[in-house]
Amino acid sequence: MGTAFVDGRVFVGNGKILEHANVVVENDKIVSISNTDAGLPENTQRIPIGNSVLFPGFIDCHVHTVFDSSSDPFSALANESAYITTIKSVRNVEKTIRAGITTVRDMGGKDNIELALKQAINSGLIKGPRMLVAGRIICMTGGHGWTIGREADGPDGIIRAVREQLKVGADHIKLMATGGVLTAGVEPGNPQLGYEEMKAGVKEAHKAGKMAAAHAMGSQGIMKSLHAGIDSIEHGVCLTEEAICFMKENSVFLVPTIAAGYHIGEMEIKDDIPAWMIEKTKRIVTLHKESLKNAHEAGVLIGMGTDAGTPFNYHGKNLMEIPLLVRSGLSPMEALMTATYRASQVIGMENQIGTIEQDKLADLVLVRHNPLDDIDILNEADAIALVMQGGKILKDEL
Ligand SMILES: [Zn+2]
Repeated sequence: MGTAFVDGRVFVGNGKILEHANVVVENDKIVSISNTDAGLPENTQRIPIGNSVLFPGFIDCHVHTVFDSSSDPFSALANESAYITTIKSVRNVEKTIRAGITTVRDMGGKDNIELALKQAINSGLIKGPRMLVAGRIICMTGGHGWTIGREADGPDGIIRAVREQLKVGADHIKLMATGGVLTAGVEPGNPQLGYEEMKAGVKEAHKAGKMAAAHAMGSQGIMKSLHAGIDSIEHGVCLTEEAICFMKENSVFLVPTIAAGYHIGEMEIKDDIPAWMIEKTKRIVTLHKESLKNAHEAGVLIGMGTDAGTPFNYHGKNLMEIPLLVRSGLSPMEALMTATYRASQVIGMENQIGTIEQDKLADLVLVRHNPLDDIDILNEADAIALVMQGGKILKDEL
């Protein structure tokens, strides 16, 4: 028996909106999209779209499933057992799928917990988004993320580190091109892995048919990553004109993760965030927003990522990034596309997900009301009425 979402507004994901549409699902696929006058197949369960809008399942291109959103997640991970981290992470993925995020790209985990979560979700043991995982982040010795990352130096060292991640089942590779906010004593703007190292890492990932993403905040690290052939720039705090031109010409994606800085910036010392973390954030937040605005105006392709799991950046609040993107200059339509079609391109799954089209996987989400009219409804806890992933309804609060 199939399921049909009946008579309503459909956000296709490619810039089009359909009115009074029916979307019919059989097994795990979308089998037809028609207007309401067309009949539905017999024995079809009908779900009226009503005042909601039917969206493609949302995609978050940058999460850390094993981070607990506490004030200092790296320290929390260092001090708790893998068993506790695993239990917390199960809750994180449940919250994520309930928020309408049907696919995530995990950008760095610990002890292969995120790989186990992916397996558990795929086998139906627990509920969660479809996961693509990086395994461990690859950083220089003492570099950003070293407390959980795989430290590696020199091109040969990087190649070995990439191979280790591929061996355990990584879907993509994450390379640390610059310092960052969450590691004490590390400067966000400073370059870290060198050009030859980045190039070796990217090449090794590409050889296996996988994409490589760079954590890159400062301008030098961003340019090195781009010349090394990186597929996406994560954060992109300081994007020069040269970087923006390169990204546009070579279709390199930007995953800005505005939410990460926003949440740290909103909090104060009283919330237990280490003072050095707040100081670094305040220094980069304005520059970051300007870079995003310039990149967007120049036509750089942007995918939505939240960095969920970083301080006060909670799993399940992922869609808060979309109103933040609108505040940085994207239109509501463009911002919603960064979490649907654009995001599917970032993760290389545009033939399977990201839009509501025939033969795509039935990842479908009913959003109460219309975020194109009021983008801030995505900040509300009950914004997501129903979540279907691969044809299975995982949440129904219509
Ligand atoms: Zn991250």
